Amino acid sequence: MSADIIDGKAFAADVRARVGDHVARLKSEHGLTPGLAVVLVGEDPASQVYVRNKGKQTVEAGMHSVEHKLEADTSEADLLKLIDDLNNDPAIHGILVQLPLPDHLNEDLVINSIAPEKDVDGFHISNVGLLGTGQKSMVPCTPLGCLMLLRDRHGSLSGLNAVVVGRSNIVGKPMANLLLRDSCTVTIAHSRTKDIEELCRRADILVAAVGRPQMITGDWVKPGATVIDVGINRIPAPERGEGKMRLVGDVDFDSAKEVAGALTPVPGGVGPMTIACLLANTLTACCRSNGLPEPEGLTA
Ligand code: NAP
Repeated sequence: MSADIIDGKAFAADVRARVGDHVARLKSEHGLTPGLAVVLVGEDPASQVYVRNKGKQTVEAGMHSVEHKLEADTSEADLLKLIDDLNNDPAIHGILVQLPLPDHLNEDLVINSIAPEKDVDGFHISNVGLLGTGQKSMVPCTPLGCLMLLRDRHGSLSGLNAVVVGRSNIVGKPMANLLLRDSCTVTIAHSRTKDIEELCRRADILVAAVGRPQMITGDWVKPGATVIDVGINRIPAPERGEGKMRLVGDVDFDSAKEVAGALTPVPGGVGPMTIACLLANTLTACCRSNGLPEPEGLTA
């Protein structure tokens, strides 16, 4: 058996197009333009690439995009002042502070200073609590993207056995909460989990968010299961030339695809969904703050 390959790139393009249509309608019918502000502190090369892509895709969706690039030694007070200004700026509906922040800045303090209704990353403690108690919240982008792919594949997720490998605040825990909300039976595995292979083999839905290249091999996968690979790992690729690298997931694609029913590739699976969901969250935030109905199928 060879798994269906879930085309996250195409799905994300569709999400962005749907967001773009809603944005055009908001403009023509209500004179509103959703606005996203991205704040980058320091010069981490990977973060710079992410921020550039976010800005580009925001503009392509017809939204207002603002980038604030601050020096690596920016003080906490100055960063908090900027966030306060953005919280009070009516043209901005979403605020994203690119993580990780330099060590001298308190990440929790900074994230919790964002107005919860503008917290399009869904990391504010209020949004975490709302999601955990099954209430309307801003949902973290990567797990939201995974949920969209799963709903598209399965329709209803009710009663399915889901195993999430990884318990981070940005992926594993919100993913587990979303799956629970969709009535899966959810188990979270992590570095101390015993018999993890056996546990994974019972999963109808297996989500890998570990950060260990190709850790989950085909013999961990239940035949026919849907496998969502969140991992993005760079490994040496000498076959491409000296010093070359390539991206792989947390799942060993070649062996898993012989067993799974459906599988996301890396790259081209979950990755593109993350920015698409950031745009969707900005649109949702704009609709909510203006008392307008939320776009269907773009929130959890
Ligand atoms: P993280 O904060 O490092 O968390 C990793 C989790 O994996 C932890 O809960 C850890 O357990 C668990 N783990 C580590 N080794 C394990 C092992 N041998 N067996 C079982 N569990 C193990 O990572 P993250 O931020 O969630 O990211 C996970 C992966 O997703 C990374 O590759 C990251 O690059 C990728 N990612 C992708 C996107 C995207 O847009 N596609 C977005 C975010 C992250 P403990 O808690 O016990 O240490």
